[in-house]
Amino acid sequence: MALYVQKYGGTSVGTIERIEAVADKVKSFHDAGHQIVVAVSAMSGETNRLISLAKQIDAAPAPREMDVLVSTGEQVTIALLAMALQKRGVDARSYTGWQVGIKTDSAFMKARIEDIDTANMRQHLDNGGVVIVAGFQGVDDDNNITTLGRGGSDTTGVALAAALKADECQIYTDVDGVYTTDPRVVPAARRMDKVTFEEMLEMASLGSKVLQIRSVEFAGKYKVPLRVLSSFTEGNGTLITTEENDSVENPVISGIAFNRDEAKITVKGVPDIPGVASRILVPVSDANIEVDMIVQNVSDDGSTDFTFTVHRNDYQKALKILNELAGELKAREVAGKDDICKVSLVGVGMRSHAGVASKMFKTLADENINILAITTSEIKISVVIAEKYLELAVRALHTAFGLDAEA
Ligand code: ASP
Ligand code: MG
Repeated sequence: MALYVQKYGGTSVGTIERIEAVADKVKSFHDAGHQIVVAVSAMSGETNRLISLAKQIDAAPAPREMDVLVSTGEQVTIALLAMALQKRGVDARSYTGWQVGIKTDSAFMKARIEDIDTANMRQHLDNGGVVIVAGFQGVDDDNNITTLGRGGSDTTGVALAAALKADECQIYTDVDGVYTTDPRVVPAARRMDKVTFEEMLEMASLGSKVLQIRSVEFAGKYKVPLRVLSSFTEGNGTLITTEENDSVENPVISGIAFNRDEAKITVKGVPDIPGVASRILVPVSDANIEVDMIVQNVSDDGSTDFTFTVHRNDYQKALKILNELAGELKAREVAGKDDICKVSLVGVGMRSHAGVASKMFKTLADENINILAITTSEIKISVVIAEKYLELAVRALHTAFGLDAEA
């Protein structure tokens, strides 16, 4: 007998029919003798609908009231799912965030879970019942309702699993697992059986939208085995674990992530003296713009070019800051490009294998793709290239690193 926390996302509970299907699934685990805690999202589209109602009244409504509003979506789902399970003879009971004691800080709309009181849940589980918890929401010390940020039900699921020391946290969604890359770009992409938390974090922060990033961090920190699987089809999904596979047959690269929304700015011909990097980047970060890659050339004539990348949404703002700063920096020119993208190889296998970078660069060279910037970490190599080459680059790399599914 195991204790599972199962989280069902918006599309998995998007209609009454789907809620009934989830009830069947939960019942089958319960019938098999497992203890089940379910965390649910709002029915798909509901959170957006609620937000748009608020925006019709005020473009920037009070965050406290936003949380009172958007937390209602999950409350609907828990009640309906409890009814569907009760209809099937299962002693299911719904709980809002405050009823199970999900304590958070007071950062409305992006609250962090601080503590979960498991007593109520334990009691109902030990009596043979199924516990159904509203995802996304909690309560602060002053009993204000809080929410955890968009996609926050994933984090609710993981936090419940950590607090209950569950055997596994299962995230049921509309895809059947985590893929080596986006199957829409590479039809030969494969579902991974296993991936490490570190790799998953890199994939998630690089745009693979399967899981809320915070939930992956949380699961890694508390070592909660996390499984992503489809609520629509059968299958084992993808297990996210701390275990690294180091058998010889294992691929050095686990996946390829990419991000289209990149832009780069180059400050050309600035004096190569101490303090230049901070004089360029401090005003940018003061404007709340996140800088991703940074490249600075070596110089032999006393001046240097300094390049950095930002999210495309921040491009115009960053460019304006640097243009205003150019004189003071004694820069020759400020140039920018926003038709670029970032492609990254991710894999813990890189730690023990040399030659990954050179193989990556050779693969791109063979396709005549020019690399504009490079960064590396222990388990990731990222390049910036022209956006028009994104598909070509990802496909070529996917093949070169042996990730293609067998036809
Ligand atoms: N309903 C919330 C959202 O749409 C939370 C979630 O689905 O995870 O962001
Ligand atoms: Mg979601």
